[in-house]
Amino acid sequence: MNLNELMNTFCGKSAGECSNEEIYAALLRKVNDLAAEKSAPMSKKKLYYISAEFLIGKLLSNNLINLGIYDDVKTQLAECGKDIRDIEEIENEPSLGNGGLGRLAACFLDSIATLGLNGDGIGLNYHFGLFRQVFKDNAQTTIPDKWLSENCWLNKTDKIYPVKFGEALVAARLYEINVTGYDSVTNKLKLFDVEGVNEDIITSGIDFDKTAITQNLTLFLYPDDSDENGRLLRIYQQYFMVSAGAQLILEEAVERGSNLHDLYDYAVIQINDTHPTMVIPELIRLLIQRGIDIDEAIEIVSRTCAYTNHTILAEALEKWNISQLKKVVPQLVPIIEILDDKVRRKYDEPKVHIIDKDDRVHMAHIDIHYSTSVNGVAWLHTEILKNEELNSFYEIYPEKFNNKTNGITFRRWLMHSNPELSAYITELIGDGWKKDADELEKLLDFRSNREVLEKLLAIKNGKKMQLKAYLSAKQGIEIDENSIYDIQIKRLHEYKRQQLNALYVIHKYLEIKSGKKPTTPITVIFGAKAAPAYIIAQDIIHLILCLQELISNDPEVKPYLNVVMVENYNVTLAEKLIPACDISEQISLASKEASGTGNMKFMLNGAVTLGTEDGANVEIHQLVGDENIYIFGDDSETVVERYKEKSYVSKDYYTKNKAIKTAVDFIIGEEMLELGDKVRLERLFKELTGKDWFMTFPDFDDYVKAREQAYSDYENRIEWAEKMLVNIAKAGYFSSDRTIAQYNKDIWKL
Ligand SMILES: *Cc1c(COP(=O)(O)O)cnc(C)c1O
Repeated sequence: MNLNELMNTFCGKSAGECSNEEIYAALLRKVNDLAAEKSAPMSKKKLYYISAEFLIGKLLSNNLINLGIYDDVKTQLAECGKDIRDIEEIENEPSLGNGGLGRLAACFLDSIATLGLNGDGIGLNYHFGLFRQVFKDNAQTTIPDKWLSENCWLNKTDKIYPVKFGEALVAARLYEINVTGYDSVTNKLKLFDVEGVNEDIITSGIDFDKTAITQNLTLFLYPDDSDENGRLLRIYQQYFMVSAGAQLILEEAVERGSNLHDLYDYAVIQINDTHPTMVIPELIRLLIQRGIDIDEAIEIVSRTCAYTNHTILAEALEKWNISQLKKVVPQLVPIIEILDDKVRRKYDEPKVHIIDKDDRVHMAHIDIHYSTSVNGVAWLHTEILKNEELNSFYEIYPEKFNNKTNGITFRRWLMHSNPELSAYITELIGDGWKKDADELEKLLDFRSNREVLEKLLAIKNGKKMQLKAYLSAKQGIEIDENSIYDIQIKRLHEYKRQQLNALYVIHKYLEIKSGKKPTTPITVIFGAKAAPAYIIAQDIIHLILCLQELISNDPEVKPYLNVVMVENYNVTLAEKLIPACDISEQISLASKEASGTGNMKFMLNGAVTLGTEDGANVEIHQLVGDENIYIFGDDSETVVERYKEKSYVSKDYYTKNKAIKTAVDFIIGEEMLELGDKVRLERLFKELTGKDWFMTFPDFDDYVKAREQAYSDYENRIEWAEKMLVNIAKAGYFSSDRTIAQYNKDIWKL
């Protein structure tokens, strides 16, 4: 591609004379065309990955890399005095997901295309993705984050599908985003949007009239569902997605030659968590409409669908009241009742019924009974599903259960986010690793090579300086590049235990106050959005922001400990933070984090994990060995037992353990109350001392010990660099190319 020619065509001037905006707009159009020109994969059978979330992140550089022209474009830009990173800044991030689940879907699309598989994503075109987070008075506030613009990757099609609700008929317009594979084919992310969406009904912040369905359906991702209208809207959104999606799937299957009786030979539908579950009864309904009898329709659909479970947190397993479904989608209710009836005829155990005694429909139960496959997302998670959470189902269908440990795309999370490290890896072992991630193991040959280890440290240092400059320019946050970067970035949730990290910070702060200073200064970085209705999560953000203010104003402590919470954590920020990280905080309560994927991104970029034996941390631990990870805390069996016996009393730890008491009391101590909100701080204090549902206290001592050990090991730079190298070398297993190859081999069979 010739940049000057391109800019001449678009703007009538040379690239050097164009603004960054003009260059971005021209590149977007050109890259979009190049992506569309790539062949689409052909096969009789096609995969549909249906998901309420696709947290795709910015696409310009990602697409340039996948099309093989990134270096060329970067060089040409540099020749006319432009930095590709400034061009990247122009693009809005489409935040069409909340966190890990949505990001996983995006990584999967990249790998599906990279492996040349015939598979599209199906989802919703939210006009405002996840809210934008703004800190004010040490608290989170939320404003809409509009990502759509003239210059975005969304392509309008002329396909429209009717979607019928109980009280309205709406038109679903299909939009598409090209999904480029790395040196491979182009697939599509198919996003439906309601015609007639009205952005003007937003009143203030992210509030809007939740009852104006025809105008609000695709306005926001997961609107606050703490009230009834919010929950109903969520059902409207889900049905809108699956009804339009199901019509599209049937239409395409027929085009490929299906007579619908053999749908499963032409289509496989991966249901990402329970949000798209209604695709099962909807497909059954549509097949009946097309003349197939109900028993056969159920059989066909069951053989076409597969379900991924993402959580064992009970509150996250969706249950809708029959009365709600009757209001929104009355046409599905008789089908769901038949599905439940079939189950009841076979099994007396109420735990496996679809409709419970309170007339609530358990969406996951529909998925498990009426699909071919049920998978968890990491080894430990799948074991817990089989042996605990879904054990009654496992006893009925042992053959359906399987594990698919999550993965991440190395194109975005190494080649794009860390070109310096990518180039050095290639210099050492060639570039075979880009297509076969297991080749990273060749790096192990260099584990005692001092020159290599020093170079790894130098690259890390460079990324730390880049992060420092970025945070300073974008957020006015100042950090010391010579400190240890200790980072916890992920959605704010009690089970992820940012509060445990915050308690450590207090502990450290008090230690420094008492004269015990760390050898190397420490920078603790948090990044996290909290659901607007999740009060305790807001309180934890408040605590962290107050600690940030307290410490930054304390000249005694500031040179040794810096606490910062970055605003509006999203994919773009993750791409900057992760390559700069020394210590990756993965400290969820064992058994609660299904997999995690942040942990994998950090490992791949040479951060060392400080974590519990939870989710995919278990597999990271196995791969790198005890020497190259810091594991602490109770294991999942202990935790599961403690819940079963209801034996945990947080107050006992609080009264008996002096370090815990001191740190927790600090939350409502003088210094904090002077800075913060009394109601919030006292509520959090009460939550911890009176409940502590996610058991931070039992792990506290061990956490402090492991963290101190990590900080002390950090001092031996060469030994630390060897840990970094082993982590990078062993990260190949966590390529989403491996995950997708396993899905295809065991489930999709494309
Ligand atoms: C990877 C990623 C996540 C998931 O992080 P976990 O630590 O696995 O919870 C969430 N949000 C963003 C923006 C991500 O890139």
